[in-house]
Order: sequence, then structure tokens, then C-alpha cells
Amino acid sequence: MSSLKQHIGYLIDLFYPRICLICGRALQSHEKHLCMYCIQNIPRTQFHSHSEDNIMEHLFRGKVQIEKAVAFFYFTHHGDYRHLIHQIKYRGEKECARYLGEIYARELGAEFFTDIDLLVPVPLHPKRLRKRGYNQSEWIAMGISDFTGKDIARYLIHRCGTSETQTNKGIYKRWENTQNIFTLGNTSEAEGKHLLLIDDVVTTGATLLSCANTLSNIKNIKISLLTLAMAQ
Ligand SMILES: [Zn+2]
Repeated sequence: MSSLKQHIGYLIDLFYPRICLICGRALQSHEKHLCMYCIQNIPRTQFHSHSEDNIMEHLFRGKVQIEKAVAFFYFTHHGDYRHLIHQIKYRGEKECARYLGEIYARELGAEFFTDIDLLVPVPLHPKRLRKRGYNQSEWIAMGISDFTGKDIARYLIHRCGTSETQTNKGIYKRWENTQNIFTLGNTSEAEGKHLLLIDDVVTTGATLLSCANTLSNIKNIKISLLTLAMAQ
């Protein structure tokens, strides 16, 4: 059965070649979403192994109590890896979000997750979720859960504020727009737990900060942050 599946896979690849989301080359049958070369060349931050110059932790220091904060890779405005985030967010590549979540969890290693109790994806506004059909942060969390076996808390926090895009707004406007946009759902399962808050990208940090601030109202809570990318 598995060899039949493999043969069908080869045939599909022959007629509808799957291509790498970064370089556009045809993928080998064992590759998913990205070719091995582009995976190897992801501009990794290595924040987890260089805690003294973890600029992501610096971004939140003094604003909200954070245990640890990590991002898989850097992207620049015109770089290839920004394109990858665009594909994940707007082009339906949710399976790739899950795949990258799993790869990153493997690279962080089981030890990173030993004190984490629950994975919390940053929620999308319901209107946007309906339009897009999926929440990319939830798919990243699913990839992390594939490796760690940790539960995903999908209804702990909700997004209620503005649903307009923030891309073209200034920093202050963005910050203003992210004030009080999250509300807590049923928090009983989260009390006393260590939450890993998950998002696709950190740019100014405003959305994560707002979300973490809301979560910090839960009794005896600890919060850590994980994103796929950090803007440079
Ligand atoms: Zn490639």
C-alpha cells in the first residue's frame, strides 16, 4: 500500500511538480514545502542558545513579565523569507506553517518545552478568520504540538478589537489599535500554568504585548513567547 502511495506520489510530482516556496525549484519526493537547501539556509536567530543578546526578550523587557522569548528566523523587508511568511499568512500555505512549527520545535529540543504546559496561538479577529479560513498561528502551534505533544488552548483568549490591517499604520497607531483588543475566555484550565504564546511574526511587538498583558490577568500565570519570524 505504501509503495502504491509512493508511486502515485511520483506520478503527481511528474504532472504537477510541487515547488519550493522560497527558490521555486521542483521538490524531491521526500521534501515538503521547502527544498533542503532553503531549509538549511533559513536565517536562524539562535535566540535560545544566545540568551545574552536575545533582542526579542529585550523588546518585551520591562513591559510584561516574560519567562523566555524565541523566534525561528529573521526576515528583512525584501528578503526571500518574508515571502515565506506572506505565503503562510495570505496564500493558504497553512500546512507549511505547521511544518515549520514542527521543524523549529525539533531544533529547540524537548528540553525547551519541559516547563511549558499549554500552547496558546494568538487569535485572529473572527471576521478575518472567516475570510482566511484558518489561523496561521494555530497551525504553527499544531506543528509544535506534533513534536511536543503539548495541548493547544484554542478558546482561552479571543480577539475583539479592530480587524483592519495594521501594515500601513505607524508604530503609535499600531500600539493604540492593539490596546484592549483581547479578552479572556474560560481561564480555569490555565491557572497556575506556563503558557507559550505563539504568533507568526514579531515586528513592533505590539500585538504580542497586548495579548500577553491580557493573559497576565490569569492567576499565577507564566508566559513565554515563540514566533516563526522576527522583522529586522
Ligand atoms: Zn528552495
